[in-house]
Amino acid sequence: MSMRVLIADDLVVSRHLLEATLRKWSYEVVAAKDGNEAWDHLQRPDAPALAILDWMMPGLTGLDICRLVRKQNREPYTYILLLTSKNLKEDVVEGMEAGADDYVTKPFDQNELNVRLRAGRRIVELQAELLAAREELRVQATHDGLTRIWNRPAILDILQREIGRTAREGGPVSVIMLDLDEFKKVNDTHGHLAGDAVLCEAVRRIQSSMRSYDAIGRYGGEEFLVVLPGFDEAAACHQAERLRVAVARDPMKLSEGTVVVTASFGVTAGTAACGADPERLIHSADEALYEAKRAGRNRVMFAACKQPAP
Ligand SMILES: [Mg+2]
Repeated sequence: MSMRVLIADDLVVSRHLLEATLRKWSYEVVAAKDGNEAWDHLQRPDAPALAILDWMMPGLTGLDICRLVRKQNREPYTYILLLTSKNLKEDVVEGMEAGADDYVTKPFDQNELNVRLRAGRRIVELQAELLAAREELRVQATHDGLTRIWNRPAILDILQREIGRTAREGGPVSVIMLDLDEFKKVNDTHGHLAGDAVLCEAVRRIQSSMRSYDAIGRYGGEEFLVVLPGFDEAAACHQAERLRVAVARDPMKLSEGTVVVTASFGVTAGTAACGADPERLIHSADEALYEAKRAGRNRVMFAACKQPAP
């Protein structure tokens, strides 16, 4: 994959030479004619991770940009090569202290520039791999491995945050606890792979009926918790009914055969003002879910959130 490099030099001739050289080496070049333009490029979301900056430029100098970039400290890292002209005797140490990673003297020697760019490129690529690995770890730590929705600790965090938000901004928060009906039968009849497929398909159906700002997490084996910010009792019950229909409407076609899957739903709503906390909301939703199971499954039941003792 070709790598994007920002070059900034106020001297047209040397900028063009640099640009042509880099293109010859298959770099994708973004050229800036002065420091301000370079800084502008570096602040964009798709900023090049590799920059070759002339030291002396009108507006922001290469040194100024180094300092600004390091102060901003954003990710991914920006690798900076400073261009210094030997006859101006710029202080290389000062450049490195300002945050430059390396420097090349002008007029540049092609081989030297090539080697130094490759070193920079290696750093940039290693850092990208590191960021990707860290992101993957973060996903693994917060998501259910099978269904890829939030795991239990993560959905509880989200619920806690939403309650915190209602405490600041007012308004209700609702939760739905839902459980696939007679799920054990699926596993016993069709095997665990079929069970996994049913879980994934149920999640897919539920998610396709959710608003973008609602969150769903796997709470237990076949039990899921949905957090609905801003929804009161009526709205949450209506939404739970939509989810119930989404799960139950069509039989699920699996490679092991067709299965009819339904789910039972327990709904509760609360506000921070009336003492809602994750434990109380989940406890009430659980009670409602139990009622839905007892009343014959494949239905939605509501329970008021328990008030704290006065
Ligand atoms: Mg210059």
